[in-house]
Amino acid sequence: MTTRRKIALLALFVLGVTAFVTRKTVTAAPQAAAPAKAAEAPNSAPSGGLSIPDTTLGVNSSTPMSQRIVHYEIDARYDATNHTIDANEVLTYHNLTGQPLDHFPFHLYQNAFQPNATWVREAKRDGSRDTAYDHWDPKEYGSEEITSLEVVGQGDLTKNLQYISPDDGNKDDKTVADLKLSKPIAPNTFVQFKIAFHEQMPETQARSGWKRDFLLGGQWFPKVGVFWHGAWNCHQYHATTEFFADFGVYDVKLTVPQNEVVGASGVEVSDVNNPDGTKTVTYHGDDIHDFAWTVSPRYKVKEATYQSQMGPIKLRFMMQPAHWDQVDRHEKITRETLDHFEKWYGPYPYKTLTVVDPEPDSAAEGMEYPTFITGGTSWFMPEGLRFPEVVVEHEFGHQYWYGMVATNEFEDAWMDEGINSYTEVKVLDDILGKNTSMINWAGMTLGEPAEQRLSYASVADRDAMAQNAYDYYSSNSYGGITYGKTASVLLTLEGIIGEDIMAKAMHTYFMKYRFTHPTKEDFLKTIEEVSGKDLRWYFNQAVYGSPVLDYEVSQVDSDPVNWYVDKKDKKEPKKGAKDDTVYQSYVALRRKTDFVMPVEVEIKFDNGEKIREHWDGQSRWTRFSYQKKAKVVSAEIDPDHTIQLDRNNFNNSFVVDANPKPTYKLSTYWLFITQWVSQAMAWWAV
Ligand SMILES: [Zn+2]
Repeated sequence: MTTRRKIALLALFVLGVTAFVTRKTVTAAPQAAAPAKAAEAPNSAPSGGLSIPDTTLGVNSSTPMSQRIVHYEIDARYDATNHTIDANEVLTYHNLTGQPLDHFPFHLYQNAFQPNATWVREAKRDGSRDTAYDHWDPKEYGSEEITSLEVVGQGDLTKNLQYISPDDGNKDDKTVADLKLSKPIAPNTFVQFKIAFHEQMPETQARSGWKRDFLLGGQWFPKVGVFWHGAWNCHQYHATTEFFADFGVYDVKLTVPQNEVVGASGVEVSDVNNPDGTKTVTYHGDDIHDFAWTVSPRYKVKEATYQSQMGPIKLRFMMQPAHWDQVDRHEKITRETLDHFEKWYGPYPYKTLTVVDPEPDSAAEGMEYPTFITGGTSWFMPEGLRFPEVVVEHEFGHQYWYGMVATNEFEDAWMDEGINSYTEVKVLDDILGKNTSMINWAGMTLGEPAEQRLSYASVADRDAMAQNAYDYYSSNSYGGITYGKTASVLLTLEGIIGEDIMAKAMHTYFMKYRFTHPTKEDFLKTIEEVSGKDLRWYFNQAVYGSPVLDYEVSQVDSDPVNWYVDKKDKKEPKKGAKDDTVYQSYVALRRKTDFVMPVEVEIKFDNGEKIREHWDGQSRWTRFSYQKKAKVVSAEIDPDHTIQLDRNNFNNSFVVDANPKPTYKLSTYWLFITQWVSQAMAWWAV
């Protein structure tokens, strides 16, 4: 997902600019060698488990890249008038947990959109990323009802379903239902669930639902939790949380009116017209952990091919007609992003990538699903406003940090959004320029690193990165910390271990943990292993804690050593002669807050001499002292600008007799940016 800040900036721009203008077949499947062993045929099927041959997990499938714990076969019919879905779902689950399982929790995400659901309560309390409730509008209602559930071999167990609320005890929340089995499922056997469900999609909220004649089918089917580290992990749906699911195979039939243009995760297998005016489009996806789709009768589609390291990828751009002139722009950034990810992190192994330009004002912009992303643009978008590029790059990045490296987004959102924001900075800076990667238009520039830092700076002391995504102080804090702080923490890390080593660590992490569910320690230890450095001092503060980093140059002073000699006794140097006055100079640095970080300071003298000093930052302050035939003219902390985490950069330097003009310009610029961002946020709150 893209931060609401960026979407807000985009919206603000469009709003402002608009006002200004007014005034004036398939089988394709991953080809990679399998890093993980595929499901093994069970030896026997004690108690509740079934013996299902391997081939069941994906008839059309390729060599597995993931464990393929789940296989979803869904046959769904969409009523475009009432925005309802009726479907039959067969879920085959392979018990690789090493222990018998006697209950299974299911996510029913669409139940989040009800007045007393946890999602709505939190969104009402803190604001969500794209919804603000001041009253309840029935159009916002969503529901997901399991009308029947049979467990093969155990019969109809619909009555055993029970809503649970493991996170907050909210009895009105129906986003998780737990199913008690009559017999446990033995390890290394399969269980099959036959589920019928009925769904009411809401007017788009949280990247799911309808707007006018558009639909984004996200989080739309009953989905089993993840058995992880010895227990079921199945959180309620929260206003700030995303998702977590096991890898598997998806075979999905979508029956929709014949006038709809359809896009979805995976590969299209067939498209058949039915006599009743509908058509059934079938998709197949391997080694993915979610499935999303979209329909609108108005999409204009461009298809293209990208040659990846593992073969051709079919690119599909589904654009709003009003944005058709931007289709090449969308394609260009997609290709450039793919180039960078394949070169820096590892191969993109899927055979398709669908880029959707969703209905304007639909809250469906900037979202990621496996092999399927949504962008976000507007009819007025000059080249120098990079928002379409930023959003497409960001959502594509999630194919790696979420799609393949599938972390637990409920618990460690920073590993998904934050790592992705960091690679967004790296990739976009390389493509669009360090200081111009967001805006380079009408004399204004804004780079990715500055934008990430800015979003973190406003909430720097609110929360730590390593905490449940639903335990943040507010959605602003969630956004600023998980996206902006994580990016800034990893950029700052480049200054500690080196940019090349960091790049190597990211590549190692991706290749080692793709198609698995790594933990935060897996990520942090990979960086330590690759760099050969113990970085606990940094991670404990930056990742696990919430201390703020702020260093300042607090004093710069040069005074003649013989200051006490009366002026009239001093010999004035002859014109043109060297000034032999010896000065006593002091430069003091302060650590204003709790984050301890070694820093460099560069001190310049009026004879052109430069001195670099190193301070371990352990004490609250330090002072350097010099006696020279020269005065200090400036001192600057972090002269190489590697510490992105410093909340206030404006006290990092001290210039004696500063030329007021540039200072004025700089502070005006800062004011402009600050006001601009707060205005964007204020607009958003409306
Ligand atoms: Zn994101």
